[in-house]
Amino acid sequence: MIYGSLHTESKRDGQWNVQPLSPTSASKYYTCPGCGLEIAPGIAHVVAWRADGLMGETDDLAARRHWHAHCWKIK
Ligand SMILES: [Zn+2]
Repeated sequence: MIYGSLHTESKRDGQWNVQPLSPTSASKYYTCPGCGLEIAPGIAHVVAWRADGLMGETDDLAARRHWHAHCWKIK
């Protein structure tokens, strides 16, 4: 399976930076904002944060969220 590199995606609510994470780099529990469920360690998922800079890059980075790959796809 191939895990992509950092890229931007257009969503209904704007441009987002997306960083896919491989199972080996997923080492903590996160709560997915898409479904509200946990993402367990060892599960490949994506990290996303706004790319349109509305709130400033530092705030956007601080507000990055971890998503299940499937939940991100249907966002
Ligand atoms: Zn989810």
